[in-house]
Amino acid sequence: MKSLVINREDLKHNIRKIKEIAKDTGRLDNHKLLKIIAVVKGNGYGLGLIPYSKFLIDNGIDFLAVATVEEAIKLREAKIEARILMLSSTSIKKEVELLIDNDIIITIGSKEALEVAEEIAKRKNKKIRAHLKIDTGFGRYGFIYNEKEKIVEALSNLKNVEIEGTFSHLSLAFYEKNKYSEEQFKRFMDVIEYLKENKIETGMLHICNSSAFLKFKNMRLNAVRVGSAFLGRLAIPNIYGLKKIANLKSNVTEIKELPKGYNIGYSNSFITKRQTKVAIIPCGYADGYNVREQKDMFRKIDKLRYIVRDFKDSFKDNSLYVDILCKGSKENKYERCKVLGRIGMYHLTVDITGKNVQVGDEVNLNVSPMHVDSSIRREYI
Ligand SMILES: *Cc1c(COP(=O)(O)O)cnc(C)c1O
Repeated sequence: MKSLVINREDLKHNIRKIKEIAKDTGRLDNHKLLKIIAVVKGNGYGLGLIPYSKFLIDNGIDFLAVATVEEAIKLREAKIEARILMLSSTSIKKEVELLIDNDIIITIGSKEALEVAEEIAKRKNKKIRAHLKIDTGFGRYGFIYNEKEKIVEALSNLKNVEIEGTFSHLSLAFYEKNKYSEEQFKRFMDVIEYLKENKIETGMLHICNSSAFLKFKNMRLNAVRVGSAFLGRLAIPNIYGLKKIANLKSNVTEIKELPKGYNIGYSNSFITKRQTKVAIIPCGYADGYNVREQKDMFRKIDKLRYIVRDFKDSFKDNSLYVDILCKGSKENKYERCKVLGRIGMYHLTVDITGKNVQVGDEVNLNVSPMHVDSSIRREYI
């Protein structure tokens, strides 16, 4: 049995840090504090949608965002009353209806989505709160930025839909060179200006995800949508003092001695160089262990980059280690043990030669919570 252990103090630390960083801003609305919208999609980035959302709320967050109707409904079923923004625009009537019934702020990213929202609002005799989505070059949800007249036309006859905010999403915020993010920001602000000229209420403005929030102070506007930064797992160098807040806890299930010259794992990539005492740990890549970021292989330049990186990496020691809490040793201390051979879906083998490791000893693994199967227990300590 294993569990994803989430350290409350470390998570609190990250929430505090993010609030501190956010305090240092406010571009259009200087008298107001920058609003933090906590993104809790993907089972709360793996931390458990409900316990994670409750924890955030208990620590002063009052605005959540999700990516699916299912997530939004689950939050309401758990009696969470905070403001919830559904980030994905939808023109499917059934979905819009469920969102409205659950008092979720919807995103409107097309004329069709707006028409559906108006129709449902009319039928239910309700005011609907919505954020407008502008596609500034992501190619996903939103009115296309350079079709300004169309946006104004679509919005010129609002009846029951109230625009509470307007936002866009950046595609390259984690990149060092930021020309494209600057360009997207400029496109966004141009649309906003045009909407204002045409007397269309834009509400609160937001474009930043975690990386952009931390890196581009000038883009913070009225609100920021923060997800990964709460977990201390950024796609940019972590120079902000954010902590990794979770790790996977498991136990040693088997111990044995392997002779010299013995294979360990799939594809026979590791052969013991000496007699080796090993421990088997029932965790693998299905638990998010050593799951690396996906390689982008669409552009030639990326392929080249990876070749260079892999070449450089081949000179480094890329060994992985896990920490085993040795009950047998006097001090009850953690031993760092090297992973041998390939990692399986649910198993890995580590070298414990000369170490006092016993069956049942607790193991700590560094994992990306997002990849940990939702059937595994989340334990807040
Ligand atoms: C996921 C998501 C975010 C949060 O992104 P992070 O990089 O994890 O902070 C913000 N906005 C939208 C639209 C998203 O889909």
